[in-house]
Amino acid sequence: MRVGIGHDTHRLGQGGPLRLGGLEIPHDRHLVGHSDADVLLHAVTDALLGAAALGDIGELFPDTDPANRGRDSADMLARAYAAVNDAGYELVNLDCIVFAQRPKLSPHKGALAERIAQILGISPGAVSVKAKTGESVGEVGREEVMMAQCVALLAPRTSA
Ligand code: MG
Repeated sequence: MRVGIGHDTHRLGQGGPLRLGGLEIPHDRHLVGHSDADVLLHAVTDALLGAAALGDIGELFPDTDPANRGRDSADMLARAYAAVNDAGYELVNLDCIVFAQRPKLSPHKGALAERIAQILGISPGAVSVKAKTGESVGEVGREEVMMAQCVALLAPRTSA
């Protein structure tokens, strides 16, 4: 078994929708970044890569490469998991936390977990998505940023 951790932060800009976990969530702000700035999928990607000791998302998809501008983070995650599979591992489970003052994410947690499972081709029951506010303090609470964290557990691959 191998464990990995991922963390990411993206700034918030005026105007929606919010691209998060491979979904578009109605909101009056969006995440700003070189790719599509999907903070949750970036944390998941880094957790998977970290568990397999395959580097990090910035090494696989450098922001100096024009091909990565506006890139779909679901595609980056799928490619990272393919590399993890090639290295001989498969995912046991993910546990994720999104730190966002707004919007209220509890109604979206199930859909976010299902979308992440769909991108990875795994059971939705293997993905947990939790959400925390910033308690109205700090950079999360002031709605300057959103952050995400993820822990991933890998096991030796059994499927073909
Ligand atoms: Mg990022």
